[in-house]
Amino acid sequence: MKVIRYIPSSPFLLPDEAARKKALEIISEGHPNKEIEDGYSRLPQFVDSGDLLERVTCPECGKELDSEDWSILMDALFTDYGFESLDIDLPCCGAYSSLDKLIYDAPCGFSCFEVDVIEGESVPDGLLDKLAEAVGCPFKAIIAEM
Ligand SMILES: [Zn+2]
Repeated sequence: MKVIRYIPSSPFLLPDEAARKKALEIISEGHPNKEIEDGYSRLPQFVDSGDLLERVTCPECGKELDSEDWSILMDALFTDYGFESLDIDLPCCGAYSSLDKLIYDAPCGFSCFEVDVIEGESVPDGLLDKLAEAVGCPFKAIIAEM
C-alpha cells in the first residue's frame, strides 16, 4: 500500500494548531476521497519510506552505512518522545553530521508534524508550494510503501 507522507522540511519545526489545520485542509483538498491521518509531537519522529528504504549513505564520503551502524546511531538519539537531537558523528569517515542529512534511498525524513494520505497516488502539482505558503515553511513529501 502506497502512503504519501507530508512533513515540514525542518525536523524540529512544529507548526501551531491553526497552521496544522490549514495544512490538513490543503492536503485533503489535493487528495479528494482519500483516507488521511495526521499526527504531531514535540520532538521529531522518523518518517520512513517503508519497504522502499534500501540503503542509507553518508553525505560526506559517499559510503553506504551498514544497517547495524545506522541502527546504533538512531537508537542512541531516540527517546520515548522522539529524537532530542539529530547530531551524529559518522562511523565511516568521522564527519559530524545529522541523521536528517544522511542520504536515504528512497528518501525519508524527520518531523514533528506529519499528514499521511493512505493509498495516495502522486503529489498534485503545486501542493507543496501551497503548503509552504499557508504554513510559512517548506514542506516535502515522503513516498512510502507499507
Ligand atoms: Zn562518511
